[in-house]
Amino acid sequence: MDNGHPLAAVLGLPAAHSLSPVIHGHWLAACDLSASYIPIEVQNADFDSFFQMAPRLGFRGFNVTAPYKQRAFELCVTTTDRARRAQSVNLVVFSADGAHGDSTDGRGFLASLAAAVDFEPADKRIAVLGAGGAARAIVDALLTAGAATIVLANRTQARAEALAARFDDRVSAWSRWPAAQSFFDGADLIIHGTTYGMKGVCDGEKPWRLPPLKPDVVAAELIYAPLETPFLRDAAEAGARTVDGLGMLLHQAAPCFTAWFGVDVAVDAGLRGAVMRALDRQASEQGRGV
Ligand code: NAP
Repeated sequence: MDNGHPLAAVLGLPAAHSLSPVIHGHWLAACDLSASYIPIEVQNADFDSFFQMAPRLGFRGFNVTAPYKQRAFELCVTTTDRARRAQSVNLVVFSADGAHGDSTDGRGFLASLAAAVDFEPADKRIAVLGAGGAARAIVDALLTAGAATIVLANRTQARAEALAARFDDRVSAWSRWPAAQSFFDGADLIIHGTTYGMKGVCDGEKPWRLPPLKPDVVAAELIYAPLETPFLRDAAEAGARTVDGLGMLLHQAAPCFTAWFGVDVAVDAGLRGAVMRALDRQASEQGRGV
């Protein structure tokens, strides 16, 4: 059934809200490529058979989002070291010998920091709020890039301890919540990796009590909807240089596009503008109850 028109997709349940079609659609148009990238909502019972059949339908590969990142990892014939450490993939590429899996979130985060504030993690001290899947990918990437120490604080402390135990002794878990003054002492980089503030929803206690910060401290948010979050507002007020969550989303997508379509692409103002307009559309549709 492959008609020679290359396809890629994001598979998830749901998938319609994903911004990946906007990102890859922008690059396809910018590169004048005759190919398509589409969102596909796949039910649990159909995932394995769709995954196996996809190359014969013309798919070069997929992005995989919740709840399929782990199952996709299991279905790949080869995976990168970082995907094996995460036991999860967000990028699948098909070749003649089968499906190959990678995890691009961690490198997307580092690329975003480098582009926005020229931050390199080697020998740096890092404080992370949160201990979910995104924090896990980021901690892995920071350690690989030579971070000196990483301390994790999480609402559910056992989860921070379990995450720290997966890594070497540069990573430790903090015992108090919400994280206050001493948690942030000496940090070169503070990362907000909880869902607190996502889509304007703030449930329960604020996860941080930020002390005044030196202007060379970088505070990075993972949330991109909304783009301006309570964490970014507080960090800017405390004196830090801030990085929003959109850069990570854009930078994790670039290696995916290259893997499927063989073209290097730029994360530039045009792409950022296109995605911000899509975010605005989504926000106003939600406001209208769509
Ligand atoms: P996850 O695995 O579900 O983890 C959620 C984290 O948020 C856990 O640490 C959880 O703590 C914490 N949390 C949830 N509600 C909270 C609250 N009311 N107060 C304090 N902490 C709370 O999610 P994830 O995949 O790691 O994603 C985390 C964030 O990163 C999300 O906002 C997501 O949109 C964002 N993200 C962004 C990108 C990007 O490209 N920019 C990529 C991936 C993820 P407990 O363990 O106590 O429940």
